[in-house]
Order: sequence, then C-alpha cells, then structure tokens
Amino acid sequence: MKNLHFLFLCVICVICGQNLSAADKPNVLYMMSDDHAAHAISAYGSRLAEIAPTPNIDRLAHEGMLFENAFCTNSICSPSRACVLTGQYAHTNGAYDLGGKVEPGKQMLAIEFGKAGYDTAMIGKWHLKVEPADFNYYCVLPGQGKYHDPEFRVRGDQPWPRNLIKKDGMHSSDAITDITLEWLKEGRDKTKPFFLMHHYKAPHDYFDNAPRYESYLRDVDIPEPESLWNSHDPRFGSIATRGHDDELVPHIGTSIGDRNPRRSYSKDLPGKYPAEYPENYDPADHSKEEIKRLAYNAYLKKFLRCVKGVDDNLGRLFAHLEESGEMDNTVIIYTGDQGFMLGEHDYQDKRWMYEESMRMPFLIRYPASIKAGRRTDAIIENVDYGPTMLDFAGIKIPDSVQGKSFKAICETGEEPADWKKAAYYRYWMHMAHHDNPGHVGIRTKEHKLIFYYGANYDGGYRTPPGWELYNLKKDPHETVNEYDNPEYAPVVKRLKQQLAELRAEVGDTGEDYPEVEKVIQEFWDYDAADREKAKKLSQAFLATRTGELAGNKKPGKKK
Ligand code: CA
Repeated sequence: MKNLHFLFLCVICVICGQNLSAADKPNVLYMMSDDHAAHAISAYGSRLAEIAPTPNIDRLAHEGMLFENAFCTNSICSPSRACVLTGQYAHTNGAYDLGGKVEPGKQMLAIEFGKAGYDTAMIGKWHLKVEPADFNYYCVLPGQGKYHDPEFRVRGDQPWPRNLIKKDGMHSSDAITDITLEWLKEGRDKTKPFFLMHHYKAPHDYFDNAPRYESYLRDVDIPEPESLWNSHDPRFGSIATRGHDDELVPHIGTSIGDRNPRRSYSKDLPGKYPAEYPENYDPADHSKEEIKRLAYNAYLKKFLRCVKGVDDNLGRLFAHLEESGEMDNTVIIYTGDQGFMLGEHDYQDKRWMYEESMRMPFLIRYPASIKAGRRTDAIIENVDYGPTMLDFAGIKIPDSVQGKSFKAICETGEEPADWKKAAYYRYWMHMAHHDNPGHVGIRTKEHKLIFYYGANYDGGYRTPPGWELYNLKKDPHETVNEYDNPEYAPVVKRLKQQLAELRAEVGDTGEDYPEVEKVIQEFWDYDAADREKAKKLSQAFLATRTGELAGNKKPGKKK
C-alpha cells in the first residue's frame, strides 16, 4: 500500500511540477508596436479614448489584466527591445542607444524558450542590427523598415542580412500580420508550444497608414492636452529644459508649434502630409496658434490611423487563435516599445522621462490563471517582461536576468511585500535627433525625480544640469516642478538617496563612461556653486546652438 502511495505521489509530481512536457505548456505571444503610447489605447481612458477606440487591444484588458504603471527604463526603440530580450538594463546589455544590438548567443528569451522545447519566432520590427539567430524562425524588417512595400530579412542561402523577401503592394502592419498568420498556420512545428514575438513598425514616425484609413478621423478635431499650450509657464521644467532665463526653451525638445527653430511639426508636416492641410496652405495666412493646431491635428490623425491599422490586424490575429482553439492556452501580451509625447508640453517623440514617454502600455490575457478585468498600479519595468514570460512557461529564469517575474501579481492582483517600489530610468543619447538632454531618475507611485546631467558619453557637449521633482498624485500631468519648493525638501532628500541606492542596485555605476559619471557626481548635491555653474553652461550652450543654427557643424559625438 505504501508503495502505491509513493507511486501515486510521483505521478502527481510529474503532472504538476517542472516535468510538464513541452506540449502541455502555454504558448506565449508577445505583441509589441513601435511608439504606441498607453494614452492612445482606449482601455487606458485618456482624452483620445472616445474618438479613437482600440477595441481589440481593449479586449485584452476586459478579458485579462491592465498594468497602469508599466515603464521602460530608457525610452527609445533599440534599448527598450534589448531590455525585453535580455531582461537586463541598458548599461548591462550594452544597448545604450540606437546603435544597440544583442548578439546571437545572448538573445536570452529565444534561447531559454528554445531550450524548454518551444518553437520560437521573431516577426516584424527587430531593430537590433545583428541576426536574430537564436530564434528558430525570423522574418524581420531591415532597421526601421518601410511602411509600404516592405522588405523582410529571412534565413536563407546567403549570409545575414542578404536573404530578402518583399511584400509589394502591402502596408507593413498587414504584411507583418500575414507573415505571422502564415507561420502560425503552416510554418511552425505544431508538436511544440510556440514563443512568438510579433512586432509592428507602426505607429513609428513618420507615420503612414494604409490607404483604407485615409478617411478615418478626417473631420474630427483631436482633443488637445492642456500642456500643448504651456511652454511659456515657468513652473514646468528646470534650467536644464528652459535655461536660466527661458533662453533654452526654443532649443530643448523638438516641438509641435514653431517653438524649436531646428525641428518642429509646424515646419515639417505641411510638406509630408499635404492632405491634412487646407488647399494651397500658406503659413503666412494663419496665426501662430492656427499653425500649431493644424500641425497637432495632422500629427495625431496620422498617428491614430496607424494605431487603427494595428488594432484591426490584432482582430485578425485573435480570430485565427479562436479558430485554431489556441486563444485560451496562449499567454497573450500587448505593449509598445515605449510611450510617446502626443503633444504634451509641446514635445514630439519619446526619450523623455515624462509620463507619456516613459509609460508603456502593458496588457496580458491568460484566462487559465488571470482573472478578467483586473487592473493594477504595481510598478513594472520592461526588464521584468522577459522573466515573467519565462515564469508563465515554467522555465527557470537565468541568473543573467536583472528583472523580476510579476506572474504572481497577474495571478493574485496583489503586490508581494518585497515587490519593487520604484522604476529606474536613464536616457543616454544626449541631444541627439530630438534635442533631449541626457538624464537619470526614479519614479515611485507618488513622485518622480529627474536629474538632467546634460552631457555626452565623453562628458562633453554640455547643457545645464538641473533637477525636477513632480508630485504625481497632485499633479499627474507634471506641470509644476517642486524641486526648489522648501515643503518638498525632505522628499527630495529621500528620493535622491533612493535614486543613489537604485543606481547601485541595478549596477549603473558609471564604470563604462567615467567622464559623464564625473558630471553626475559634481552636480548631485546641486548647491549654490553648482547652480552658478549651470547658469554659465546655459549661456554657453545657447551660444553653441546659435552657432549651429547659423551653420556651424555640431561637434562630433565620440562614444
Ligand atoms: Ca519605439
């Protein structure tokens, strides 16, 4: 009898434990768009929710779980992708900026899922330069890829990246969905569960929708964020973003209106999207305010048409999973590689640590263990996505991974007592492309502390260092910098300490780039002498920028 008991227990252990055969494991479908900010998904309930609903993405929230506080740790494309793939922060995986790559042999998620008996695929926008060789199958856009008639790199007779297939006459979102459907239906090994990374190029700029969406939102006035108009309000930002006496307001952050003389949508969009402008548009016939409003509407409409294309394509993908009976045994995730400024603070693009840029959408559906309609304000970071997916598949998380699995939060709706209380942020690409100074910071549920140290990897091309503190409970749109408000002195002190500890914990110690670390340390306490130095740096940068605008070459950015 005892022996029978023992045998029975062994059988139970095999069924419940890690010895589950690969065929019994859930599929994992990780879907990611490019620059799709959470506030452009209706389930997040922003000003855009009513005019531009995303019913298919929302379905994941209604039937699964929505994370309100999902953050990227470096708000730019390649680094965010590298964080997800490796479960490591940028300073660990080495993908600091758009030159970032993750070499074959280090593509952690593909390797771990593969070892556990999964069939693995990477389809769509990859943006990590080298071959996605650790995936069983890949079909990826070269670099940013094209919106129309896209080409894809595949495995073949020639060495990477020479084997190409073309999808003439197609929009990239439609093509990527078709390729994924083809792989799901016929390409994969159906004796194995799948791990699929399905990545859209849309709605990355410059936005270009499929022709069938041209009339979508045509006659709608897109609701504006209040901060679209508040660039003149000195309570927002700091000397780092405004200059000592607002002299840098035109030069920090590319703009919707004509604030930034180097790059603005007011200047760029009439040529790019003439159909969004009145016939024979001439800016001389319009007020500054009208010009800005036209640019904002052109911008948002093109962006939201791309979003609509993504959402419709997800509908096609879900319909297939329903049909094949795989909807419920697949862990389905939707996210964007970071957020995006949709006119807030008159800023374009991402890169900023401000909410709209740092926040990622994150929705997850897996009815076997995640209750429908759950929402949480637990803080998660993109380095946590990988280990969470591995955890759902019952795969051991490798020691190289810095992120933590939040599977338990998905399954219980509760944060474990020792769960992270803050997100770490670092943007390295100082003053590249969109005029954002380098910065580092910490975001808790209540506050955000940002330190713009304002220097390149080599410590050069300086902009004035400055600190910003936002009270997110009182001021969720980050309109008042409280750093110098004496009432907040204890908060500043505590958060600086926490930020220093977090830097040490995640290992961002400045070893690789000691020159910029010197700048960070020099301005950390930000005493009266530092503030004087910052003023001088502001004036010096204004002179540099004025020279650049007059045609002087920007100094080289050694890395
Ligand atoms: Ca992106």
